[in-house]
Amino acid sequence: MTITDTQHRPLRDLRISVTDRCNFRCPYCMPKEVYGRDWIFLPHGELLSFEEISQLARIFVDLGVQKIRITGGEPLLRRDLERLIEMLAAIGGLCDLTLTTNGSLLASKAHNLKSAGLQRITVSLDALDDEVFRAMNDVSIPVVRVLEGIDAATDCGLAPIKINMVVRRGMNEHCVTDLARHFRHTGHILRFIEYMDAGHTNGWRMEDVVTAAEILAMIESEWSVEPVQANYRGEVAKRYRYRDGAGEFGIIASVTQAFCGDCTRMRLTADGQIYTCLFATRGHDLRRLLRSGACDADITAFVRAIWHRRTDRYSEIRSAATIGLDKVEMSRVGG
Ligand code: SAM
Ligand code: SF4
Ligand code: SF4
Repeated sequence: MTITDTQHRPLRDLRISVTDRCNFRCPYCMPKEVYGRDWIFLPHGELLSFEEISQLARIFVDLGVQKIRITGGEPLLRRDLERLIEMLAAIGGLCDLTLTTNGSLLASKAHNLKSAGLQRITVSLDALDDEVFRAMNDVSIPVVRVLEGIDAATDCGLAPIKINMVVRRGMNEHCVTDLARHFRHTGHILRFIEYMDAGHTNGWRMEDVVTAAEILAMIESEWSVEPVQANYRGEVAKRYRYRDGAGEFGIIASVTQAFCGDCTRMRLTADGQIYTCLFATRGHDLRRLLRSGACDADITAFVRAIWHRRTDRYSEIRSAATIGLDKVEMSRVGG
């Protein structure tokens, strides 16, 4: 089945956040001043169970979803996550099952995730230098832990791996070419992400965004590159390849080159709210519906009605007026 919104965009992707907790405190996502000791995370009973998530995922796949990405907070903090992966992998009609992680716990978990049916993985890594890495995530975890996670994922067959690097002015922009050099010739695909005005706690300012054009210029100052065609409609990263055959990289320019026209993504939070946009100010409560005994047909009708009404195009209309909105936090909808 294909359902479309008011801009004729089909529903194709589902991002499922499995926890609001994280062992990092990246200031661009969960600043310590807000997510400190007093922050109250969701109690276990408010989280969707794996059975509930699987039931919803099946409904979404019937509505046209082809790709599911597990995210968080930090998804590898959710106990027995492999069991959920196994349940999702068994859903007929799902083409792609992937996960985004900060990589800190990946070394010991990659093998079980792969065995459970995970097809691909994205690892976030903002720097190779420990000091810069710490400034980007505000905890004392050495870079080598993430690199070991990437190696473990490679060894068990999850490669090629996508590596996400958020670039922030004055913090890690000088690491762009270091990371590019590190991942050339590895087969992994580094993706540079413009720092976004997600949520309302990170104090985002346009001056802190290193634009896609600047990132590309940094890469081009060292290597000759050329654009590559998108793999599919709605691919968020603009693809490039090194002309010397060292591989490809991507740039996700959600601030300076909005791609709302092709946005086919729905987001499900750990407590069962759905959001039709990363920058939405409100979600819709699927958990209440689910726990009040609604049948699959009721839930299907609810989701379909929300998608039909969808008008979101935040990145295209971003302005001083929209930046002050009370938007959902990235750690809740999972990026
Ligand atoms: N904890 C996992 C991780 O960091 O990979 C998964 C969740 S995290 C919210 C998903 C992605 O969003 C990460 O790659 C992270 O770097 C990115 N992200 C978070 N806040 C961002 C922001 N303000 N601008 C751009 N990307 C951001
Ligand atoms: Fe945690 Fe990922 Fe957010 Fe960093 S970006 S605080 S690792 S959820
Ligand atoms: Fe999709 Fe909203 Fe991002 Fe536009 S701003 S690409 S609609 S999530």
